[in-house]
Amino acid sequence: MDGTLVPREQAVVSVFDHGLLYGDGCFEGIRAYNGRIFKVGTHVRRLFASADAIRLKSPYSHEQWIDAMRCTLSANGLGNAYLRVVMTRGVGTLGLNPFRCPAPTCFIVADQITLYPPSLYESGMKVITARRPRNLPAALDPSIKSLNYLNNILAKIEAVDAGVLEAIMLNHEGYVAECTGDNIFFVRGGQVVTPPVSAGLLEGVTRGFVMELCRRNGIPCEERLFRIDEIKAADEVFLTGTAAEIIAVSQIDDTVIGGGAIGPVCRTLTDRFRAAVARDAPED
Ligand code: PMP
Repeated sequence: MDGTLVPREQAVVSVFDHGLLYGDGCFEGIRAYNGRIFKVGTHVRRLFASADAIRLKSPYSHEQWIDAMRCTLSANGLGNAYLRVVMTRGVGTLGLNPFRCPAPTCFIVADQITLYPPSLYESGMKVITARRPRNLPAALDPSIKSLNYLNNILAKIEAVDAGVLEAIMLNHEGYVAECTGDNIFFVRGGQVVTPPVSAGLLEGVTRGFVMELCRRNGIPCEERLFRIDEIKAADEVFLTGTAAEIIAVSQIDDTVIGGGAIGPVCRTLTDRFRAAVARDAPED
């Protein structure tokens, strides 16, 4: 918390913190595998990009953030963990003005995360198409990983109401953007496709790594716009995210995908992903 290691009970934030009052701040979710912090360089760059976009200045350098993550992991005796890295606008007066908050609140949590039940990684996951569109990039750009997650949470409620755990979100023009907490890919005739950042989505670190794995393994992968009908006709659909890693989709609304089983491309990418993080997880 703000540069000091504190026990869990003392890791508390003021009720005057604008992160809590207004969702004013940004964050990262990062995994550590065997003591190595997966793609931490990319995550910290995204944290700083989010902070810049909301005119929040980090009191710490990239290196200081990374050192603090390592300290938090070791203080908790964790080698495999999920890190939540948060920078809020800080404590201020009641009222929106961000410039009346003298210093950001910065904290790192190291814990375990199980986003989806392990059985879903074998069976594939059912998802729905959310009725609610993803935020308009000109209004609140989804590429900013801000503490404002209500757009996603309201779509997640649609999913939970429908008895599933994820929802595909379309942008304001009806193109597929991403899911509430994961990026989305499909495979058709051996070609991997994912929406471009311009569709209005978070540029996921896992998404980037999966695209890198495609390149390294000679799997064609392109970024382009597509609509929900096209993805429903895919051979395979899968989601990516730090917490989710890679998870296959077996059904979208009433449409079963690729016979409902996990497809070969998703299987290969998952194997390559597991191998890459098990050995010597890349930190940059
Ligand atoms: N989209 C959204 C909206 C997210 O919140 C996340 C992270 N949970 C992702 C995509 C995946 O990003 P990453 O791979 O960097 O975790």
